[in-house]
Amino acid sequence: MKYELSSELQQMRDAVRKFVKAELEPLEQSIDATGELPPHILPLLGKHGYLAMRLPEEVGGAGMGLFPYCIALEEFSRSHRVFGLLASGGGGLTPIAIARHGTPEQRNNYLSGLMDGSKRTAFALTEPAGGSDNSAMTTQANKVDGGWIINGRKHYINGAHDADFITLIAITDPVKRTRGGVTAFLVDRGTPGFNVTRVDTTMGSDVIKLAEIEFDNCTVPDSAVLGKPGQGFDLAKESLRDGRMAVSCSCIGTADRLLEMSAAHAKQRVTFGKPLSERQAIQWMLADSEVDIAAARAMVYETLRQIDAGVNVGTAPSVCKLYCSEMVGRVADRAVQIHGGMGIVQGYPVERMYRDVRHYRIGEGSSEVQRMLIAKDVLKRVP
Ligand SMILES: Cc1cc2nc3c(=O)[nH]c(=O)nc-3n(C[C@H](O)[C@H](O)[C@H](O)COP(=O)(O)OP(=O)(O)OC[C@H]3O[C@@H](n4cnc5c(N)ncnc54)[C@H](O)[C@@H]3O)c2cc1C
Repeated sequence: MKYELSSELQQMRDAVRKFVKAELEPLEQSIDATGELPPHILPLLGKHGYLAMRLPEEVGGAGMGLFPYCIALEEFSRSHRVFGLLASGGGGLTPIAIARHGTPEQRNNYLSGLMDGSKRTAFALTEPAGGSDNSAMTTQANKVDGGWIINGRKHYINGAHDADFITLIAITDPVKRTRGGVTAFLVDRGTPGFNVTRVDTTMGSDVIKLAEIEFDNCTVPDSAVLGKPGQGFDLAKESLRDGRMAVSCSCIGTADRLLEMSAAHAKQRVTFGKPLSERQAIQWMLADSEVDIAAARAMVYETLRQIDAGVNVGTAPSVCKLYCSEMVGRVADRAVQIHGGMGIVQGYPVERMYRDVRHYRIGEGSSEVQRMLIAKDVLKRVP
């Protein structure tokens, strides 16, 4: 099912698709095999402006709204999952948070490196004490003269071991906690007391690994605070809203490619004297995936349009993220089934994508957490 986009958006989508096909798709299997990102990728994305899509024009970005930006992410996610992550700026949308809430000094120090691909970042919210329940976090920053002393541990932080700096979310008022007692800090790698204690490889195509980081009397200056003290949880929530929309579009992009590959395979593979595409059992799987993707696009594009128009969309990002992350799992499962043995042999994109899409049901808030948020909203509507 075709979703009509404005000609401007269509042109942008076509340009990104052309770039992804020419420059990124040829690398996706070798990245999966080696677990390494070729060093030219980040600078290449930077050169083409793909690391600055959402940043405002006054800092050198393209000033895109969330809708066009997410359409671009959808295209990146047709290839390897890592490209979508990189194009989203890594680090839970840290670049846009710095552009919106950073001081002129922070913008100067960090943004140009993120835009040209010479700097990497990460977003550290989750910790052993507070995963789904972020309000249980224990990492704490105590105010001292001229700065803050941080103690605590964060884990499952995408790319924190490779990051030049991270955005850290910590408790700064143990009484207020998530009601105005949480602050965001920009912490540079190499700051004494900021240590990477562990790097986890995961079941997916593991290029950007998950790191555990520890803060042991790590002292940062007042100038490291991003936004205002006490504003950190709002900043994290803002990042999660946009992050959930970004994940939703990434799921759509991956699902669309899986369906395309499934249809192509079904037409070409002959069993019992006929192509698979002539069998009703296979046609129904293709049809179900098409319906899944169409429903996802309709809800996601409408939510994005409303966000860009300044509408308070409430729990719609949770609805989108929940639906899309589960939808891409169903589409990937059907794709494996249609490809038969080829669907589970390493070295074919379907097998890699099947592994990769499992992440989406956990990161940026698990399916259960999205259901909790959505149900709370539903129950509020009746007396
Ligand atoms: C690929 C990936 C990348 C990530 N990147 C980052 C990152 O860059 N930065 C960052 O800060 N974090 C990151 N995370 C962490 C992620 O946000 C957490 O893993 C997630 O919030 C779940 O927390 P948890 O792992 O502690 O699971 P838990 O909170 O222990 O939950 C375990 C299971 O129980 C369910 N559950 C929990 N509470 C309830 C409840 N009340 N009712 C019903 N079910 C419940 C959960 O849904 C889950 O299925 C990443 C995770 C993944 C998988």
